[in-house]
Amino acid sequence: MENREIPSRDQLRRFPYSFLEDQLHWPRTNDYEDSLEFVMLPLPHFDYSRPRNVKEAIHALSRGKRGTRVLAGGTDLLVQMKKGLVRPRLLVDIKHIRHISRISCKSKGELVLGAGVTLTDLEQWAKKRKDWSGLSMASGSIGSEQVRNRATVVGNLCRASPAGDMAPMLIALDGSVGISGPEGKRFVLVENFMTGPGKTVLTQGEMVISVRIPKIVNSGAIYLRHGPRRAMDIAVIGVAVRLSLDETLKRIVCARIVLGAVAPIPMRVPEAEMILVESGVNLLTLQEVSNLAAARARPITDLRGTRSYRLEMVKVMTRRAVKQAWKQLKKKEVDR
Ligand SMILES: Cc1cc2nc3c(=O)[nH]c(=O)nc-3n(C[C@H](O)[C@H](O)[C@H](O)COP(=O)(O)OP(=O)(O)OC[C@H]3O[C@@H](n4cnc5c(N)ncnc54)[C@H](O)[C@@H]3O)c2cc1C
Repeated sequence: MENREIPSRDQLRRFPYSFLEDQLHWPRTNDYEDSLEFVMLPLPHFDYSRPRNVKEAIHALSRGKRGTRVLAGGTDLLVQMKKGLVRPRLLVDIKHIRHISRISCKSKGELVLGAGVTLTDLEQWAKKRKDWSGLSMASGSIGSEQVRNRATVVGNLCRASPAGDMAPMLIALDGSVGISGPEGKRFVLVENFMTGPGKTVLTQGEMVISVRIPKIVNSGAIYLRHGPRRAMDIAVIGVAVRLSLDETLKRIVCARIVLGAVAPIPMRVPEAEMILVESGVNLLTLQEVSNLAAARARPITDLRGTRSYRLEMVKVMTRRAVKQAWKQLKKKEVDR
């Protein structure tokens, strides 16, 4: 924190936004605001809409112009509003839309997570299903139980924080985002959904209605995150790894390594993935893969860790995640 005069309670009460503007111009050590100690203010005035279906929601979002936001769990949006970082004129609350809070498996084994599915819903659902254990690791790593009960998986993606915990795992599972808007429906790979810190491909009037994940078989998936504290803090680094074997359970046919919190958006390491497919998991490839991950990462220095510390941790965590995913697969082979 810079050495600036801290406003008194009385000053804050009388001129809250002038102090906020001042804070917003302080030099940032990070691309996102989490590292700054902002003053929490009462929520500003906003209009509220509670659509009953997706069509009504799209209608409200389209007519509301730029100052309109979707409200899902509100664990991020309401905090941002209280910090004065965003001041939407209209909130479109999607929690009351029917059928949007379902987790369903389609006939081809595709998993569909509705936009209202909370982190707790997903964590509990995935815990009982071995194939989806990576999803329970990612959703269970976020915030606290109270936050997870409220926060949605899709809200985590749409927040587009570089350190968001859901995106790396969803990318590793080749997930895609179902978007509805005034022009109709479209699908975008989660990998291409975020365009920068806090930015996504969503355009005016559009909302995400689901996340779809293709069926995965003979796979091991692991999400590991490292942070200064075990809970209630964002990740210094997150790594999602997925390895899929052929039907003989001997050869890796697909590998995904996705890093979070070490670049403006989550990033894959395709060269390392290729090595695992071509040469499998052994001491040499583990070394190569972790070095490649560190070479590709572009972390910053902030109050949670220096750039060089993060680069070292990328190596450690990547190696650990690949080893664990491999171990998970070997266990499946024994169980079969
Ligand atoms: C104490 C605390 C701890 C936290 N810890 C973590 C953590 O460890 N890891 C982590 O990743 N996050 C963390 N968060 C951030 C936050 O909880 C998550 O990002 C959460 O998943 C957001 O989901 P939500 O449903 O609450 O989204 P909201 O707050 O409702 O929305 C977030 C953003 O997404 C947009 N949005 C939501 N749904 C849609 C949709 N369907 N279509 C289009 N736009 C949409 C909103 O307009 C808003 O801009 C934490 C937050 C708190 C308060």
